[in-house]
Amino acid sequence: MIKEGLCSLCGKPGIMHSCTLCGALVCSDCYDAKRGLCKKCSAKFR
Ligand SMILES: [Zn+2]
Ligand SMILES: [Zn+2]
Repeated sequence: MIKEGLCSLCGKPGIMHSCTLCGALVCSDCYDAKRGLCKKCSAKFR
């Protein structure tokens, strides 16, 4: 399902992805598709 909204990290409007860890809706720039995590959570698990 495609969700549109505002990125909770950078505030940009667009297609959002939800982080599997914190549930934040983030844009593709702020999303790590390989891990299914937002950049913030992705940075915690390197
Ligand atoms: Zn973003
Ligand atoms: Zn997250």
